[in-house]
Formats: sequence, structure tokens, C-alpha cells
Amino acid sequence: MEKYWNKEIECMSREDMKKLQDERLVAQVKHVYEHVPYYKKLMDEKGVTPEDIKSTDDLHKLPFLSKADLREAYPYGLLAKPLSECVRIHSTSGTTGKRVVAFYTQNDVDMWDDCVARAITAAGGTKDDVCQIAYGFGLFTGGAGLNGGSHKVGCLTLPMSSGSTNRQIQFMQDLHSTILCCTPSYAAYIGETVAELGLTPDDLDLKAGIFGAEPWTEEMRHSIEQSLGIKAYDIYGLTESSGPGVAFECSEQSGMHINEDNFIAEIINPETGEVLPDGEVGELVFTSITKEAFPLLRYRTRDLCVLSRKKCSCGRTLVKMSKPMGRSDDMMIIRGVNVFPSQIETVLIAEGYSPNYQIEVDRVNNSDTLDINVELNPDQFSDKVKDIQNRERALSASIKAMLGINPKVHLLPPKSITRSEGKAVRVIDKRKLHD
Ligand code: ADP
Ligand code: ZN
Repeated sequence: MEKYWNKEIECMSREDMKKLQDERLVAQVKHVYEHVPYYKKLMDEKGVTPEDIKSTDDLHKLPFLSKADLREAYPYGLLAKPLSECVRIHSTSGTTGKRVVAFYTQNDVDMWDDCVARAITAAGGTKDDVCQIAYGFGLFTGGAGLNGGSHKVGCLTLPMSSGSTNRQIQFMQDLHSTILCCTPSYAAYIGETVAELGLTPDDLDLKAGIFGAEPWTEEMRHSIEQSLGIKAYDIYGLTESSGPGVAFECSEQSGMHINEDNFIAEIINPETGEVLPDGEVGELVFTSITKEAFPLLRYRTRDLCVLSRKKCSCGRTLVKMSKPMGRSDDMMIIRGVNVFPSQIETVLIAEGYSPNYQIEVDRVNNSDTLDINVELNPDQFSDKVKDIQNRERALSASIKAMLGINPKVHLLPPKSITRSEGKAVRVIDKRKLHD
């Protein structure tokens, strides 16, 4: 039987949810207008006053906030509470440039923990579970977020942080961990190490994994599920809107329910800013309606996905977002074609290769080049040059069928690509160095 952490909210009627969001949005806009001069100025410039926002139907009237605003307002410019009422600071991983910082009051931390508790419960977690947290602890939100949620559910929590993979597995066995939380790339690495140690999933007590903080494909999910003998659930979030737990996957494992009592989601056309209907791919925009210290309104995440309000078999009524296919700034334009690393990952894993790969893009003689380094599994490795060349040719053809452009595939010996303990670096775009 499906369990809920907060059934009243997670299964609320759409009508009641709208009412709740309407009330919270109106109050939040007022709070921000009065306490955040940076955003007040944006509203004034757009000619919008708090009185114009009477319900969520008026959301589109508000100005957007972007990462550039956060960098400009760094560090205190978007703070809506006195520092004396804040209890915590976190910072983005800096994947795409200068880090930004976010502030939390105690209520903000409680709200965040509550969102993560819903995610853990949706993955089958209860107070009888042992939850091993192998996301990094520190300024990064992964460790702290899952730690807080795990405590709230009452799981026996193992705050391991990332790294020391053999020790992770040792504790996993000795302390009977049932839930593993980390990035999907680290989960794949742990799965690989389990096999190398001569262990099988039967030697572990794991039943579920909660993996997020970076894009991962369905193919990657199946591969991790097999290597660890678990069900793997996705979790989404970003520092700007607290951290992981903004959205989480349920037993249906097809998209993540957004915690709409705290966050209103919109999908926009990234070029025009126009709001798109459900079912269309676009940039995800979040408005946090309960956060006190760092309440971003209409924040552009740069993550591309689709929203769906189709009925979910788990019984939750919360809107679902699809797995983000990547950030708009992860998208590479190669010889005029839009390419996402996830498309390449899909082909690699479907063709039986490891999820250990790296993409190199460059520009030679005014033409873009695409090189894909892929590691061979030990059983695929061969010292016959011809075999490797044939494999490279076949894989290039499959990738060309997916992307429409010809890559140069390089199959490398096992263990030649550095494993990730946090967010994997999939793309090296050397063209940027020439600019
Ligand atoms: P940074 O933006 O520097 O990486 P964060 O650690 O706050 O800082 O990361 C948030 C970002 O991570 C999101 O905007 C999104 O791009 C990515 N992300 C988080 N969870 C997921 C997920 N489940 N699937 C895909 N991408 C994710
Ligand atoms: Zn569901």
C-alpha cells in the first residue's frame, strides 16, 4: 500500500490546492515587495504592485528572476529577513559559474526537511529504515537536505557524505542500510565497486535509492537498479529553492511530483518568456510561496522539462515534472544541431556500454567536432585493434542515428575515465576556451 508523509497535502483536491496557493502567493508577494528592494525595483519597472496579484492567475504579471540577478544581488541583495533570524547558508555547486548563496530561517529548514520526508516516504522509507546518505555534506544542499528529511521520517540515518567507496559498502553491509541517497553517477560507481568486491545485491539489504542533483536517463536507472538490487527514485531540487525535495518520484517512477503547497511551477518558452501549456517542453520556473529568508518569485531554473497533470496511480494529486532533459546551458549546439548529453547516454547504455563516458566538443577549421570517449567494460575489452575499430564504427552509427550528426567514438580500456562521487562532468567544451 502506498504511504504518504502528508496525505492531506499530497492528495489535496486541485481546487483546494489552488486556493492554498492563491492565499500563499498573495501574502508572499507582499512580503517580498516590502522586504526585498531588489525585487521591488523589478516590479516597479514592470509597473506591477502587490495589489495586482490577487491569485495564481496573476502570476504571469510578475517579473522573472534569473541566475544573473542572484549573482548581481550577491550575497545579501535578495534576503527578505534580518540575518539574525536566519540559521543556515547553503551554496550552489557552481556547476555553471560563480556560486550563489541562499539563506534559511528555521521555518525554511523545517519546510525543506518536510519536502524531503515526503520523498523518502514515497520511496517506501519508514522509521524502520536505515538511510545511508552519500551526497556531499557541506555547503552543497544534497547531504543536509536528505539528512534532515531522513531524521524527520525517523530513519536511522548514516550521514556518510560522499567518497571512500569501500567504506560506504562496508557500512552498508555491517549496518544493514536499506536506502541509499547520492547522485546517480555515484550510485553507478558504488554499484560497480560492489561487483568488483565480488559481492552481489543479495549481500546487501538495500531496497531503494533516492538519486538526484544531476540529469540521468531511464537507461541509467535500470543499470543502477540491477547493480544494487533496488528501486531507484529520482529527486529534484536546487539551492535557490532550498535544495533537493522540490519534486520527488513516487511508486509509478514516471516523473516527479512537485511540492505545490510550497512551490508553484510554470513552464516557459526560454526565448520569449511566454508561459506554455502543460505537455510542452520548456524552461521550468519556480515561485516559492512559503520560504521566508530567500523567497524567490518566478525564478528561471534553466532546466528543461514538461509538466503533467495526468492522474497518477499513487493517488497523489501534485503536478508532475518529467525528468529534466538537462539545463538549457547543457545543451550543445554542434554543427547547428541541438545535442544533450542525455541523448548520448541513452544510446551508450542501450548498446551495453558503461555509463562512464565523456564528451569533448571543439572547433577545428571552423567546423565543430564531437568526440565521445567511452570506457569498455572488462568483458568487452579486447587487444585486437580490428575488434575495437568495428565496435567504434557500430557505436558511431547508433549515435548518428540518434543525433543526426557523426561523432568520433573512442573506446577506452576499463577504468580510464575518472569516476564521480558527486555531480559527474560529462562535457568538455573546448570551443569556449577559444572565445
Ligand atoms: P548548481 O546549479 O551549481 O549545480 P545546485 O547544486 O543547486 O547547483 O544544483 C541544482 C541543479 O541540479 C538543478 O538546477 C538541475 O539542473 C540539477 N538537478 C537537480 N536535481 C536533478 C534531477 N533529479 N535531474 C536532473 N537535474 C537535476
Ligand atoms: Zn505518483
